[in-house]
Amino acid sequence: MMQVSSTCITQSRVIVRSGRDHTAPTPLLSLRSYTAGTVINGADRPIVGPIDLDIETGSIVGIAGESGSGKSFLFKSLVALNGSRAWSQGTATFKGINVAGRDPQSLDLQRRMRGSDVGFIFQQPTEKLDPIMSIGRQLVGTLRKHHDFTKREAVAKAIELLGEVGLPNPESYLSSYPHQLSGGQNQRVMIALALVGEPEILIADEPTTGLDVSVQEQILVLLQKLARLRQMAVVLVSHDLDVLARVCDQIAVLYAGRLVEFGSVASVLRAPKHPYTSRLMHTRPSITRRASLLPIPGEVPAPENRSSLCGFLSRCHVKTDLCEISAPASETKNSRVVLCHNPVKEPFGPTNFGQPKTSSSISRLSGPTLVLSEVTKTYKLARTWMTPADEKHALCKLSLTIKPGSILGIVGESGSGKTTLGRLIVGAMKPSTGTISVVGCPENAPNFPRLPLWRHAQLIYQNPSSSLDPRLTALEHVIEPLISRGALSKAERLAKAQEALLQLGITKEQMVCKPSKLSGGQLQRVAIARAIALRPAFLVCDEPTSALDVSVQANVINILLQLRDETGVGIVFISHNLAAVRAIADNVAVMKAGTMVEYDHADRLFVSPKHEYTKHLIKLARSNEAASAAASASLMSL
Ligand code: SF4
Repeated sequence: MMQVSSTCITQSRVIVRSGRDHTAPTPLLSLRSYTAGTVINGADRPIVGPIDLDIETGSIVGIAGESGSGKSFLFKSLVALNGSRAWSQGTATFKGINVAGRDPQSLDLQRRMRGSDVGFIFQQPTEKLDPIMSIGRQLVGTLRKHHDFTKREAVAKAIELLGEVGLPNPESYLSSYPHQLSGGQNQRVMIALALVGEPEILIADEPTTGLDVSVQEQILVLLQKLARLRQMAVVLVSHDLDVLARVCDQIAVLYAGRLVEFGSVASVLRAPKHPYTSRLMHTRPSITRRASLLPIPGEVPAPENRSSLCGFLSRCHVKTDLCEISAPASETKNSRVVLCHNPVKEPFGPTNFGQPKTSSSISRLSGPTLVLSEVTKTYKLARTWMTPADEKHALCKLSLTIKPGSILGIVGESGSGKTTLGRLIVGAMKPSTGTISVVGCPENAPNFPRLPLWRHAQLIYQNPSSSLDPRLTALEHVIEPLISRGALSKAERLAKAQEALLQLGITKEQMVCKPSKLSGGQLQRVAIARAIALRPAFLVCDEPTSALDVSVQANVINILLQLRDETGVGIVFISHNLAAVRAIADNVAVMKAGTMVEYDHADRLFVSPKHEYTKHLIKLARSNEAASAAASASLMSL
């Protein structure tokens, strides 16, 4: 065991002088009865814990769980990143020193670990980087803060780090600004910044969320390579089990602040023992088959609503009488940790929930049709001191038809023109050439074809928390667009808004809540209610599930399918998540660099794609799912 002989704190790093017993592996980080929380109204409120968890040097540990399970809070608490009211207790032994605590010395230790012993990368890297500083300045500045480098040495090290994270011609990135780089390039820059302090643990918090499937693969491979070459532990926080299966050695599943299951990737994925893990596994859409999704009913309880019993009690499908009277204790067997009175012995069933209806199998197919004919969108790029004036072709001669009651999936990487297409359909911008028209005039509506596009189509954005006004309640969000219609009285607007929200499962109590009081799934349902309250003929959903947990994602997909079945609305579902598109779309258009390279019925396209680019995208998506299957298979072969 590690024997700590003395400790000293330098300007930026915890240094342990230790005598190490090499006969027994010592975890780099060891949590025991570790609890972290914050102070609300003068009282301590635990958010995560008590938790026992070991992280070994050079290992990659995946942290799974829904939003609100405490994944990010847990690891931010280790480096005092949860704000001035945050606290921690129990033990968090890092290289032999307990850094948990709320006393000034513990907080000082936690802050000194930040950036040096523990590096962080987050999702949406473009938002995390300073937009007005070049990449070179950000890297050189950070390097000189952590090391005693001259400017020349810092520049040389910055180039070395940019090369290490896989950016070709690294010197050329020094003068670039974040807005000039893609999401994947910015994430590599974020990783380079995190490596500045030579961390021994890298916390990667949803690093691939929102990235294209090919960029996601590149980032995962990079993290795996860095962990092996640098012998650096990587904690990969993600709601995507396929991503975790792709690169992790072990998986820890968190629910309502507790570690409910922990073990090797193979054992957890092949035979999940906790009912929550088991349900999570069956909530994921699959690219290999179109099947109805079964979300986990209910939501993760907020910290203030947790009871002393099992946190999963209200959602559990195998609870027993014992669960109603006592909380389970954590049990460890063969390096597998499970927190449950009644671990599952059989995989959650049924495994096949049937197929969702397709546009051809639903009865309501009457309504207008949206026709895009030879649509081109070109942006003019202004001349700068570095570049001449230019044109960017975001969409090239695109022709599509969206029939009533049909769901069109649009897939492709960033820059392929997916979002431009969505904005054109809802009339947020005009095509440079070509036409977008709505044909099929309903009875008693002679002005119908002349109405602006935004009267026919509504847009649902990717991130519901940033698309809603933090000052308005859920009800006010839905009432607001109804005011623009003018013809409705106040009472009618209220009734319509309530009807739309109730249809989406938002309760009367939740209707008067502001966005900060609602979960991600509830916010996205409010956004959908706001769109459907206007009774649009078409809904454009731009990455509506990419920021959501798998269970909430399944819920949103089911809601959209139900809306289509009940109202005959035509849906354009834009996503880089091919499995989600497989679960919902009747037809799929594959976009590349502004051009539609393939269009086909979803069943044909996913089974036998014709275009090389489509084959490439499907192969990458399948490799993630195959990682889960391979992990399971490897255990079966033991
Ligand atoms: S302890 Fe009981 S309620 Fe909780 S997950 Fe296990 S079986 Fe379900």
